[in-house]
This record gives sequence, C-alpha cells and structure tokens, in this order.
Amino acid sequence: MTMINGFLRILGPERGRMYGFLAWAVGYGLLHGLSMTLLVPISLALFDGDYAAAARWLVVLAVVVLLSAVAHYVQAAQSMRMALTTMRLLHHRLGDHMVTLPLGWFTRERVGQVSQIAVKGTTFVGTSSAHLVTPLVVNTTSALTVVAGLFVFDWRIGVAALAGGVVLILATRASAALIASAEARTHAAEIEVNSRVIEFARCQPVLRAFGRTGAEFDPLTGALAEQEQVGKRALWASVAGMMLSGVGVQAVLGGLITVGVWLAVGGEINPVTLVAILGLAARFTSPLSELAEYGSAMRMAGAELDRITSVLDTPALPEPAAPQSVSKAGQVELDGVAFSYPGRRVLEDVSFVAAPGTMTALVGPSGSGKTTITRLLARFYDVDAGVVRVGGVDVRDQSTAELMAQLSLVFQDVYLFDDTLWENVRIGAPNASDDDIREAARTAGLQSVVDRLPAGWQTRVGEGGSALSGGERQRVSIARALLKNAPVVLFDEATSALDPENERHVAASIRELADRSTVIVIAHKLSTVTAADNIVVLSDRGTVDDTGTHDQLMARGGRYADFWAQRTSASGWTVAKRAAKADAGA
Ligand code: ATP
Repeated sequence: MTMINGFLRILGPERGRMYGFLAWAVGYGLLHGLSMTLLVPISLALFDGDYAAAARWLVVLAVVVLLSAVAHYVQAAQSMRMALTTMRLLHHRLGDHMVTLPLGWFTRERVGQVSQIAVKGTTFVGTSSAHLVTPLVVNTTSALTVVAGLFVFDWRIGVAALAGGVVLILATRASAALIASAEARTHAAEIEVNSRVIEFARCQPVLRAFGRTGAEFDPLTGALAEQEQVGKRALWASVAGMMLSGVGVQAVLGGLITVGVWLAVGGEINPVTLVAILGLAARFTSPLSELAEYGSAMRMAGAELDRITSVLDTPALPEPAAPQSVSKAGQVELDGVAFSYPGRRVLEDVSFVAAPGTMTALVGPSGSGKTTITRLLARFYDVDAGVVRVGGVDVRDQSTAELMAQLSLVFQDVYLFDDTLWENVRIGAPNASDDDIREAARTAGLQSVVDRLPAGWQTRVGEGGSALSGGERQRVSIARALLKNAPVVLFDEATSALDPENERHVAASIRELADRSTVIVIAHKLSTVTAADNIVVLSDRGTVDDTGTHDQLMARGGRYADFWAQRTSASGWTVAKRAAKADAGA
C-alpha cells in the first residue's frame, strides 16, 4: 500500500492513469480468483453425477477464463504504458523541480546522487510500476476472491482461510525483516570494501614510496574479512527467512485441512464437499507465496522511491510574487549580511557597496567566506540576516531570470559541456556574432589554445571539459563572461590555474571586464588586489575588517598591511616586483 501511495504521489496530476491501470489489475485478479473458485461447483457437480450442471458451470468457467484473458491482456498493455509514463513523468518532474532549486543545493555529492536517481532510479521505479504493482494487486485480489468463495461454500473454512492469510502476511513480514536486516549489513560491508579498494588504488604512490609493494593492505584485508563474515550470516538469515515463509504456507494449509477434517468428522460438512473445498484452499496459498517472493524487489523499489521523493520534496528557491526590476544597473551591495552553513556561522554583519563599473577585490584568510559572498550574490543561498542587492534590488525580490541576466560567473569549478569548444563559448551569448566570439576568445587567451588543437574550434572538450587543462577551462569560462557582457562579473582567480601565460591572460581579461562591468573578484594575485578600486578585507571570523584602496589600507596598517607583508615575503621578489609594476601601471 505504501508503495502504491508512493507511486500516486510521484505521478501527481497524472495519477488518474494509475487508477485506470489499478482497476484493470483488480479486474484481472478478481476474474483469476473466480476461475479458481469455480472449480468447486464443477467438482461437486461431477461428484453428484449431475453432468448437466457440470457442463453449465464449465460454460461459466469458459466465459470467466475468456474475460480473464482479455483483462490480462489489457492490464499487461497498460502496465507497459504505465512504466513508460512513470519514467517520462519522473524525468520531467525531476528536471522541472531541479531548475527551481537553489544553486547551493547542487553540491558535488548531490550531483552524483542525482545522476544515479535520474538514470537508474527512474528506470527501476518505472519498471517496478509494471512488474511489481501488477503481481501485488493481482495476487492480493485473487487471494481475497478465493477467500470470499470459501465463505460462500462454508463460512467456517472461510474464517480459517482469512486467519491463515493474516498469519501468512505476518510470517512474510517477519521473514522480510530478517532478510532486510541481513541485506543492510551486507550492503554496509560492501560499501566499506569499495571504499578501501579505492583507497588502496589511490594510495599506491604513497604505499610504494614507503616500500609497501605487496598486495596486503590492512584496512582492505580487514574489510574483506568482515564482508565474508557478514556474508555468511546474511546467507543464514536468508535461508531462515525463506524457511519462515515456506513453513508459514504449509502451516496455513495444514490448519485449513485440520479445520475441514474436524468439520467432516463432526458431520458438519460432506466429505466430498470438503475435498473440493480443500482443492481450492490449496490454490489460495499460491498467490500469497508468490507475493512473498517479491519482498526484496519491493524493498528496493521503496528505497528508490524514497530517494526520488526526497529530491522532489526539497523546497524550491522562493520566487517573488511581484518581481522588481533593476533600479541601479551594475550596483552590488551587501548590507548587514549574516549567513551560516548548517551548524556553522560563516559571515557576520558584512556590508560593502560596489559602485557600477568598479572593481572590488575580496581578500582574507582561507575560509573567511570570500567564495560564500559571491555565492550569496548569485543567490545560491538566501541570507540569514541583512540584504544582498544586485542592480539596486534585493536578490529575493528579483526573478531568477532577471538576477542571472545581470551576472557572469567565473568560478573555479568551471563546467564545460561535452560539445565543441565553439559551442562552449557561444553559450555565453547564444545570439552573438562569430566575430564577437573570436574577439572574446582572443582577449581570454583562448585563441592560442584553439590554434594548438588539431580540430581547432571544432575540438570536442569531453564531459566536463576533461580534454582541457584547468587553465584552459578557465579561459573558456572567461571568454563566456566576456561574450555575455553582463553588468556584474563575479570572478574567482583560481590559484591552481595560474601559470605565467594564463596569469597574463587572466589579468588582461579582468582589465577588459572591469572596463565594462562591475567586477567582484576573489583576488589571489597581488597585482589584481592593487588594481582594485576597493578592497574588502575579511577576518577569519567572517566579518569585514576594513575596506578601502590599497594605499588607504596600507596607510592604516592593521590586518591588510600584515596580509600584504606576508604575501610579498611568501611570494618572493618576483611577485613583489610584478606587483610594483602593476602598481605603477594602475
Ligand atoms: P578559500 O580562500 O580557501 O577558498 P573562502 O574565504 O572562499 O576560502 P568559503 O569557501 O566561503 O571561504 O568558506 C567559508 C567557510 O564555510 C569555510 O570554513 C568552509 O569550510 C565553509 N563552507 C564552504 N562551503 C560550504 C558548504 N557547502 N557547506 C558547509 N560549509 C561550507
């Protein structure tokens, strides 16, 4: 029942199709049960030697069997359609819902889970709607129809069958619980072995460097031994579980025979009738034992259904009822902003204003919340207190489309589509001319990458841009931002991608972007910091320590001067000289 409710929930407004499919499955189960039940009057008529009555009952049986064949055909066709509909609907519902979720929801692990849910989960749930719901409904209905028949022939045997059915359900449940707990332990042991194998493979350089060249790796050996133990116990538990439901079926049958014989001995029932009824009672247990066999598949389908509904139940990013339009194009402002990740306060009372067309550098120790500020500007999350304004309007009062139209994001985790380099840049402004695309690529330093690649612009970059280096991916991302020409650019200067050639292009691109847009940059290079119109210095507690230009902050001493001293001494003369040059040029 829980599973059918789960299906109805995910089908949403299209649940009507499920009702139709269920009605046919119930109809088929009913006719199937009836065809079994008709064997009793036929047998009785034959025992009585009333061949005319037997023939009449046979005709009724033939009609029921015919109708049952039709119902079987229709419900089988419907179940196939139901499976395809469920899969299609699930893809649509997941897709529709995911585009409304806050960007902060899409963490690396979630993206992995979602791809698993969207591919494997939806297929499993879709096919389950046909392969599991059908036997569930058909077998339950035919078992109930047989019980109703037994009531008609002898109410006492009917009561015994009903009680037997309850016993059988309880035995099946106990057996399922036994098997499920064994499966859960096996699953946990499997995950542990998987992790240890990955660790073993990843640790090869370290293990070899420290002279461990053999195949023995204690954590993996331990995990394998544990898996073997758990596996053995699980096997016993499965055997015990299967025996429990098998014994349950035999016990119910034995109980029914005992009640029947007892009634026959007491003269309450004719022995001939008893034989016919017991024949039916024996059939009654077969749908129930078939149901028991589906237990494990039902549990798996239930788990997949739960995973899908947990995504569908994640609250969407609230959209304003009356979206406001931008009032100060290109202006960015944080006003008294506080923000926490679950269980951890990251920003506290952060305020600063970035005027249109200026460049603001965010500096501060690792973990001080620089990336979080850029995420709040793009509304990956909503603030706990204060206001984030982009274009003069609270980001919560703008439609997502309006906010996103104002922003270009150049973040460290650039994602490229598995398409050509050309298409990956063009996505920045799908209507841009070819000349604009080439110009943006030249400024971002992408042209030299294109020239190096054998297929040039038509090179496919692989899934996630795997065919390009980190620095090259960053250049694609910069070219997209240049092409989009948004009023505000959020730029994270990735430290990892800063080889000298890349550094030159990044600096040129930031200058170019700063000429046309408001740039908020998480600055790692000292030359970028000195070139900024305004520097926001964050403390390790996520508060704003100071704001101002490089000269103002240096004159005031304090944390910024310390930061500067540390960075210049850590980077050595080369960087210091370059920074000085940039200073002179700025
Ligand atoms: P860095 O210079 O090292 O990139 P940062 O100043 O950009 O650091 P943030 O990435 O904003 O700092 O992170 C601020 C704090 O929030 C860190 O302590 C980090 O561990 C934590 N944090 C970041 N993202 C999440 C998240 N999705 N969930 C929970 N905590 C997070």
